[in-house]
Amino acid sequence: MALLAFDKARVGDLLQVLSGDFAVYGPVRGDDGVIGMAPADDPGKILFDFQNTTRSVKGFVQPQCEVMFTYPQDGEKAPILEEFPGPEADTLLFNLRPCDARGLWSNAECYDNPDNPNKDYYFPRRRERVFLAGLGCAAPCPTCFCHATGGGPFSTEGLDWLMTDLGDRVLVETLTDKGERMAAAAGDVLEKTKKGDDKKAEDVHQAAMKKSPRGLKLGAPANKEMMDIFESDIWPKIAETCINCGTCTYSCPTCTCFDILDEVVGGEGRRFRIWDACMYPLYTLHGSGHNPRPTKTERVRNRFMHKLKYNLKRHGTLSCVGCGRCVRLCPVNIDIREVAAMMGQVEPRAAGQAG
Ligand code: SF4
Ligand code: SF4
Repeated sequence: MALLAFDKARVGDLLQVLSGDFAVYGPVRGDDGVIGMAPADDPGKILFDFQNTTRSVKGFVQPQCEVMFTYPQDGEKAPILEEFPGPEADTLLFNLRPCDARGLWSNAECYDNPDNPNKDYYFPRRRERVFLAGLGCAAPCPTCFCHATGGGPFSTEGLDWLMTDLGDRVLVETLTDKGERMAAAAGDVLEKTKKGDDKKAEDVHQAAMKKSPRGLKLGAPANKEMMDIFESDIWPKIAETCINCGTCTYSCPTCTCFDILDEVVGGEGRRFRIWDACMYPLYTLHGSGHNPRPTKTERVRNRFMHKLKYNLKRHGTLSCVGCGRCVRLCPVNIDIREVAAMMGQVEPRAAGQAG
């Protein structure tokens, strides 16, 4: 794969040529001050110096509300999945953060696992059409802990490009065949690197690691057995302040739960799915009226056990990329890093230990 660069003053040219092949989205600050991914129509608004988008990018592959198929109300014609049109164009997410790329594709364990004969129909089709041009984090925010989950401010995992902001220039490392296709679409806006670019990039990477908040190492061998943690008395204490608002799950790039609903509009039925959240009591309510997670305590326990224990056991990875969104957005300041410590899932780092 290749190491290339572009002058930051030419970002408008870059986005313009890329938009010939892709629907390009990038981080912009809205009128309300909230940063989110939006069509990159105005290059002057595309952010390079920002912490992260308020919402993750998972909606590009797992839409918050997605029509799965339609059917006539009389039911004579069976629904045909192949009618699913998928995204209208190949989509390029520009300047997304590396943690979000890790989150996006870690959800493939749920939706696109080759060992699962019943894997999802929609996720793989959307996934094929999403291209990721990541921008490393030169200044990680204090609530981020990507390094503790196996990533890092300049992690390449899941990305097609990793970009490093060098000030007036941006270094572009192509990482995949998709990344090569993006570089071909960029044409001569991408140039050869200059002498010293790689050294400057390495300095930026090292400085970012030094700024990363320290003291966590999730995914370490558990200090306690699974059932000891499951039955621990920490859960009522953590649940006491939780209001089950679902903000943590909706903002999380690695939450995958959904509900499936049917509705009839104008004689046509449609089946759609929407994001759901394990923090809601209805999520686990059975048709019989029984609810296996009837109180906040069970629901809070499930969320953290899933993120930090069950997924690790089932897939060998955490269901958390350390983006810090749930830490920043929880209205009652429940902090997954503190919960992890209470669960014994934290291995304190030795003084001076890197990574
Ligand atoms: S954001 Fe906080 S209060 Fe809301 S459900 Fe999550 S842990 Fe509970
Ligand atoms: S659990 Fe919290 S910190 Fe971890 S990926 Fe989800 S929102 Fe980010």
